[in-house]
Amino acid sequence: MDRKQSMAVYNSLYKKEYPLIQDEVCQCCGITSDLQIDHCPAITTAHLYVRNNNIPFIKILLCGECNRIASNRLLPRFTERFFTIKEKLLERYAKDLVNEFRDGIDYSDNYLIEADKKFELMLNRIGFGLLRGNRLANHTYFLKFHGNRLSILGSGLHSSSRQTMM
Ligand SMILES: [Zn+2]
Repeated sequence: MDRKQSMAVYNSLYKKEYPLIQDEVCQCCGITSDLQIDHCPAITTAHLYVRNNNIPFIKILLCGECNRIASNRLLPRFTERFFTIKEKLLERYAKDLVNEFRDGIDYSDNYLIEADKKFELMLNRIGFGLLRGNRLANHTYFLKFHGNRLSILGSGLHSSSRQTMM
């Protein structure tokens, strides 16, 4: 069944839902541009989960980049998509984050201001929806910088420590 056929058969099963924080932001990274509707689980995988009552069929807002990362992956639950997207963003931007987006040879004031903006934006995108470890009881996820490594440490739903190396 291709995407078009899946849409015709399964789209009506999906409920609009924004499971996280505010409405009109990407529910995985918090940005407000290039927002798209993401089917969770992916529409092309709907047939695999349609008889499973434990998998809610929801539509959520994601930005284009997060939506493309989630794509057709077998990630039926929102939390799985959320953490996979965080990991992929970390992998994709690890080098930029470690360099604080300063990879040019032009270190003019403007360049540094722009680099700082990009750095802060990316930190905010990766940190969006994650709470500080000391404010959580059962579930703990936080970002850690150490040397040239970045990691999401977690306990709870995802019990392992996930790291991205440069
Ligand atoms: Zn996003």
